[in-house]
Amino acid sequence: MVVVMEPGASTEQIDRVISEVREMGFKSHPIYGEEMTVIGVIGTRTAAAMERLAALSGVERVVPIEHPYKLTSREGRGRPSSFHVGGVHIGGSELVVIAGPCAVEGEEQFLSTARHVKQAGAQMLRGGIFKPRTSPYSFRGLGGKGLPLLAEARAETGLPVVSEVLDPRHVELMADYVDVYQIGTRNMQNFILLDEVGQAGKPVLLKRGFSATLHEMLLAAEYIASQGNDRIILCERGIRCFETSARYTLDLSAVPILKRETHLPIAVDPSHAAGKRWLVPPLACAAVAVGADVLMVEVHPRPAEAQSDGAQALTFGDFDRLMAQIANVPRYKYL
Ligand code: PEP
Ligand code: MN
Repeated sequence: MVVVMEPGASTEQIDRVISEVREMGFKSHPIYGEEMTVIGVIGTRTAAAMERLAALSGVERVVPIEHPYKLTSREGRGRPSSFHVGGVHIGGSELVVIAGPCAVEGEEQFLSTARHVKQAGAQMLRGGIFKPRTSPYSFRGLGGKGLPLLAEARAETGLPVVSEVLDPRHVELMADYVDVYQIGTRNMQNFILLDEVGQAGKPVLLKRGFSATLHEMLLAAEYIASQGNDRIILCERGIRCFETSARYTLDLSAVPILKRETHLPIAVDPSHAAGKRWLVPPLACAAVAVGADVLMVEVHPRPAEAQSDGAQALTFGDFDRLMAQIANVPRYKYL
């Protein structure tokens, strides 16, 4: 079950619920959110226990949750959640566009891209410095020495930065340089890493494992939430199936299904699904039409020279055209 506190509940009221939960032999997982505090309660639920908690002061309601994902389920909140990253409202009424190169390769490449996507209307910047690559001989990112470039681009453009964390040992190292930790498709079920970013107190963009079900993705998000952090963006980025004409198959039905199952904001990354530049804009428009909260695309000043994912990178001109097209796509609104 989940205990939803009244919006203005005091620390004493919250602590009282937590100690009551402990006395009843249950475990509590509080989330002190921007909008409200919710407390996940793990243990065998009884009507008496629910009544006892519901009677405490400051409690708005106690919701029984049938799903194994308690803190991320839609039922607990009753409505979608949203949060701020810098001045950017994620899960609010406006689409948020995250753009930037696959990998940070150098100062000119990253800063010129940051400046361009900012002036074209992106609200956030992406760029990997630790790159998960299929081959160990491919470019694996600049590593720690790329961190100052993230900070430089953020300082110059004001865009919050999203970057992938590959290793639990890097969570702290990256903390001052990233605004959102990205967990990549290959790490969706790296449970130690999920625990670690859950404790880090920063928003997380969790990408769907390319062979993971939505149920598994929600449980991966629950790992992060159970550590007290539900500022999570779930990202559909394509799944592997029998079809091989795109790099992966973008599962657009993930958006309405996740909207029904969870209160968390949903992102779509058409770049990694497409694998080909020309396929990115139509999929991006489809993502907007199906009601994604966030769109993430890869952009490179010279895709032919990119050290990773050049084939799917949009040029600056492509990105400008995409932004103009998106402005004309009505975004599906979920209630
Ligand atoms: C990325 O966004 O740079 C990336 C590696 O994505 P994915 O984990 O979806 O392959
Ligand atoms: Mn990439």
